[in-house]
Amino acid sequence: MTVLVINSGSSSIKYQLVDPESGASLASGLVERIGEEIGHIEHKYNGEEINIDETIPDHGYGLRKVLDLFDSVGPKLADANIKAVGHRVVQGGKYFSKAAVIDDAVQAKIEELCPLAPLHNPAHLKGIEVARELLNVPHVAVFDTAFFQQLPAEAAVYALDREVAEKYEIRRYGAHGTSHKYISEKVSEILGRNDLKQIVLHLGNGASVSAVVNGHAVDTSMGLTPLEGLVMGTRTGDIDPAVVFHLQRVAGMSTDEVDTLFNKKSGLKGLTGDNDMRKVWERADSGDANAVEALEVYVHRLLHYIGAYTAVMGGLDVITFTAGAGENDDRLRAAVCKRLASFGIAIDDSANAVRSKEPRTISTEDSSVRVMVVPTNEELAIAQQAMELI
Ligand code: ADP
Repeated sequence: MTVLVINSGSSSIKYQLVDPESGASLASGLVERIGEEIGHIEHKYNGEEINIDETIPDHGYGLRKVLDLFDSVGPKLADANIKAVGHRVVQGGKYFSKAAVIDDAVQAKIEELCPLAPLHNPAHLKGIEVARELLNVPHVAVFDTAFFQQLPAEAAVYALDREVAEKYEIRRYGAHGTSHKYISEKVSEILGRNDLKQIVLHLGNGASVSAVVNGHAVDTSMGLTPLEGLVMGTRTGDIDPAVVFHLQRVAGMSTDEVDTLFNKKSGLKGLTGDNDMRKVWERADSGDANAVEALEVYVHRLLHYIGAYTAVMGGLDVITFTAGAGENDDRLRAAVCKRLASFGIAIDDSANAVRSKEPRTISTEDSSVRVMVVPTNEELAIAQQAMELI
């Protein structure tokens, strides 16, 4: 039994064929530059990688090509026993607190939510439409916001005029929920305990923190959109909203220009010129003062959230690092944890230095809080949620 997981973007489709029971990834690939002059398809199966460059006019053409590749390169669709297609959907708004089998009504709701996720939901819909046409199995939408849909009001409500907030559905929706749910459940499973106060640090190119008590999210750093919160690869994270008015009034920037500045040209990229944490460390190591400062700002913001969420939860049992930088960057983890020494948190430097794809504990025996590294796997989480639902 397998699930085909699809993440459809505005000009790309990422896919992975997953065995939800063993967790194995059986094939994966990417269609990119859809609608451009020359598109690209990459299909990986059995250690082999097929690359095709050709014009891909639309998502339907791209997905049809991918299905052809399954049959010509493998694994053959007839043998793959696909039970469901799991679609990643960024915004589920107020409607979805868990995954949903996609029928016309669900599809209409995803469409209705486009104004809240103008870059993402329309792109997901393109993938959903063509996949439903081409693959005659149940299709399941797994929402990035679902894990945070039940956030307590104290965390979800912005101190904004109530009428305006209600009319325009402005609240904290969060994002990366599939990863935060997967990681917090994995930690519970590994430790054999549900009664845990957890902080999950998802530190990829996009980055977010969540506070999870007894399996329920009680706070998260991303807000109406994924712009709020931590310093990210290219996004500002938290910033005084008055900076927007200032740039519009004083610099004459348009709304779209500020949007692009905050989402694409800020964060580590804005501070150093590079959005990749590895490059930022290289710059810092070679004496680049801006990179040193950027790392300090990045860690400082993380400390803000760890302190705040510990207070919100009234205690803390586990901090877990995940995603690209969280899983691979031992210096970053050490920089954060060393600053938490006054709370009795201590990491074992040799355990922290281990590179592994396995979940692991990096705190010392007598650390007041367990510190873990747990690799995230959003595709597997989507496949499992899809399978559970059907
Ligand atoms: P996303 O899914 O948000 O694109 P990932 O979770 O794959 O991102 O994380 C990608 C980021 O992880 C890279 O941009 C890089 O900053 C960081 N990263 C990956 N490997 C390392 C490493 N060895 N050291 C530091 N950072 C790393």
